[in-house]
Amino acid sequence: MKFIPYGHQWIDEEDIEEVIKVLRSDWITTGPKIEEFENALCRYIGCKYVVAVNSGTSALDIAVQTLNLPAGSEVITTPFTFVATSNAVLYNNLKPIFVDIEKETRNINPEEIRKKITDKTKAVIYVDYAGHPCDIEEIKEIAEEHDLYLIEDASHAIGAEYKSKKIGNFADMTIFSFHPVKHITTGEGGVVVTNNKEFYEKLKMLRNHGIDKSALDRFGPKVGWAYDLKFLGRNYRITDFQAALGISQLKKLDEFIRRRKEIVKMYNEAFETMPEVEVPTVKPYVKHAWHIYTILLNDVNRDEFFSRMRERNIGVNVHYIPIYRFSYYQQHFNFNPKDFPVTEEVFSKIVTLPLFPKMEDEEITYVINTVKETINEVKS
Ligand SMILES: *Cc1c(COP(=O)(O)O)cnc(C)c1O
Repeated sequence: MKFIPYGHQWIDEEDIEEVIKVLRSDWITTGPKIEEFENALCRYIGCKYVVAVNSGTSALDIAVQTLNLPAGSEVITTPFTFVATSNAVLYNNLKPIFVDIEKETRNINPEEIRKKITDKTKAVIYVDYAGHPCDIEEIKEIAEEHDLYLIEDASHAIGAEYKSKKIGNFADMTIFSFHPVKHITTGEGGVVVTNNKEFYEKLKMLRNHGIDKSALDRFGPKVGWAYDLKFLGRNYRITDFQAALGISQLKKLDEFIRRRKEIVKMYNEAFETMPEVEVPTVKPYVKHAWHIYTILLNDVNRDEFFSRMRERNIGVNVHYIPIYRFSYYQQHFNFNPKDFPVTEEVFSKIVTLPLFPKMEDEEITYVINTVKETINEVKS
């Protein structure tokens, strides 16, 4: 069996054709495909505005910048996420405040948010871990009580639903990522989604240096040379050939999610009877998007399990190393791992198994059999 990664894109000939068409056209960046991609996402999500950028990280950065919070304001978030989530807080001279998670979903615990609110708290960034939506109603209630902005890092959760409504319609701004391990890809890429027109106008400028007119606005025989710089932005633009790939990939998203779910069902059926394994749970009021499949191992040496699985060509992973453990965060803040007992417990037991729609049935069977075999070898 060749090495099976934990996640992988699925690009077909139709996707490639769409990219090639754009490469042969006049506009390879700042052209019409960007808006077409944004409109397609608006229709899929059922939201008003989408701004496409060159990565999920850039999307997080401009979403935070759009809030225009005073330097040093506190932003509450989860430590059990990819570093980009809280780095976006740092880029904007704000202070990340981590709070503990819930064991079952690995999502931020709303009760813990409440405990960490101070006069300086201005926003919460919550992450729909693995594609399982957070307890959004509870988080919104807290935000309303304390006048906080909400940003949803839904990098794992495109296509997911909370109480029958698509993710992208809850927070002030929601971000998605189109990195190849995510549900659909543009190579690198991301979007900010919002129903707020003011935020939308600002986000569009922030992806283009902070300039108030786009290249299309300034193109043609009847337009003048003038433009203004309204904010200090960066160049976070995505290209038209990436947008074309995104449009083509989006058409397959529901099918990709369906296949992911099918694999999850096979994994659950294989592992839920094993006393050493805790399979992921799904709350009854959500539709899970299944970006990753993670298990918790009890009475099993996780690191030994991990290395034996890797030796057997299975690309197991650990999502995530809690952010407060990284050197950069330790040097700049004094977070104490003891303040995050659930995060620490989950981190010590968790393993991500391969999950992507292009997985073959025989690869799934190989993963299942190898997990069982390896657990039997290393359980205590
Ligand atoms: C992938 C990811 C990001 C960043 O997305 P990029 O497109 O890789 O920049 C941010 N947050 C989370 C939780 C992610 O998984």
